[in-house]
Amino acid sequence: MTYLNNLFSTKTTPQSEPIPGSTQVPNSAGGYSWGVDDWTRLDRFLILGSEGGSYYASERALTLENAEAVVRCLQADGPRVVRRIVEVSEAGRAPKTDPAIFALALATTERANAETRRAALAALPRVCRTGTHLFHFAAYVDGMRGWGRGLRTAVAEWYARPAEQVAYQAVKYQSRDGWSHRDLLRLCHAKPAAPESAHQELYRWIVKGWDEAPETAPTEEALRLVWAFERAKRAESRAEMVRLIREHRLPREAVPTQWLTEAEVWEALLEDMPMTALVRNLATLTRVGLVAPLSAGTARVVAQLGDAERLRRARVHPIGLLAALKTYAQGHGERGRSTWQPVPAVVDALDGAFYASFGNVQPTGKRWVLALDVSGSMTWSSVAGVPGLTPRVASAAMALITAATEPHYTVTAFCDRMVRIGISPRQRLDDVVRATDGLPFGGTDCALPMLWALEQGVEADVFVVYTDSETWHGKIHPVQALRQYRERTGIAAKLIVCGMVANGFTIADPADRGMLDVVGFDTATPAVMSDFALAE
Ligand code: CA
Repeated sequence: MTYLNNLFSTKTTPQSEPIPGSTQVPNSAGGYSWGVDDWTRLDRFLILGSEGGSYYASERALTLENAEAVVRCLQADGPRVVRRIVEVSEAGRAPKTDPAIFALALATTERANAETRRAALAALPRVCRTGTHLFHFAAYVDGMRGWGRGLRTAVAEWYARPAEQVAYQAVKYQSRDGWSHRDLLRLCHAKPAAPESAHQELYRWIVKGWDEAPETAPTEEALRLVWAFERAKRAESRAEMVRLIREHRLPREAVPTQWLTEAEVWEALLEDMPMTALVRNLATLTRVGLVAPLSAGTARVVAQLGDAERLRRARVHPIGLLAALKTYAQGHGERGRSTWQPVPAVVDALDGAFYASFGNVQPTGKRWVLALDVSGSMTWSSVAGVPGLTPRVASAAMALITAATEPHYTVTAFCDRMVRIGISPRQRLDDVVRATDGLPFGGTDCALPMLWALEQGVEADVFVVYTDSETWHGKIHPVQALRQYRERTGIAAKLIVCGMVANGFTIADPADRGMLDVVGFDTATPAVMSDFALAE
């Protein structure tokens, strides 16, 4: 009997074979997982993107797979796709906006029905909030369809926003991806609401420029900004440059490069610097001496990074903060020779901002096993294109969010064996990144966290596995290991699969209501996880 039992058991099946009678599919690693549905795939794509590909798929292949999933969703329920794009985009849930903009562009094509196309075009200003977003959209859509009337009208609408806003977008984001405001205004034939209005003057400036900038600033606010921008190009002294920045709130992009080595110029810029610009320019602020131990600049930066409400409003994504922290703390750029002396107060402020950027999550009081897949495939490529931020390093940071919230947790790691890892939210993130980066790696057995907990007598209500679900090495499937754990301990333990790669697999059984798929680095994920942990 035993050989039959070994060959056809629904309780213990090697990962290289599907569980008999299940809907499992082959994954890319030679094992079997489940395929996620297209809506989960859409979420993974919107949040994680496909930049850099994965261990198993090239960037091109991964992007195509995801685009096909988006098209299937568009055909199943197009308006739902558009709502999802707007939701993810407006809440700043994704580290990068490109996937949402790409999906929106797809939703304006013939692949979607007329109702969906209309909804997508109407959502344009909500998803493409900045000039750069609009240029990305133009580049995507240009490769997918023609510039019909609906599309031209939607772009013209974008430029009908209040004139001061158009002016700000025009001086801050001048061109990108081979597209400029001039190209777009010409294409869409935007007509100002009234002749001789600020809009008309602004459009004329964008398309033709000024023959000669007026000697004194115009009275209209939008045109004053344009005037200051033109003057800045010809500023003759540092004092003049600083005055232009202070009086007209010029953004950094409007300041000619030769002034960007001057501390006083940065000091003026810092007074009104948007949060994302601040996060990106910490190294420069330090290099020019504005951010230094105990300086007023440091106090301002630390206060701004500590303002959770402002972080939220500026949609600063935790990945952006993690990337900034990692680079800033190392004191030198990823490329090039620039160096600086990191100020510890700023590094700590970034560390705090990372946790704050996920918003408030209430502790559940449940017992959590946070299990990181540190296998070879998780060391490949990088999350959101951030150098050195591999899926396994990103997983460690993600796990610390739950660890920082919950009183009862343990962090473990595995590949084809358990791997010792000692990380805690009390450590600074750059240390965690280094520690995780240095771990050994090997094959993949996603059943190990549950087997380990059973063997060690660890009592857990929730297992969270941070993985790409490319499991193949084990003698038993993860869900079977979980069911064993439930049976032998009497605890109705749940499994949350935190997908760290935008592929199509999951180790969670879609038919088991005690299992859930979430997307790594979705800022909404920690709250979704705790709701699921608490649900009956
Ligand atoms: Ca793997």
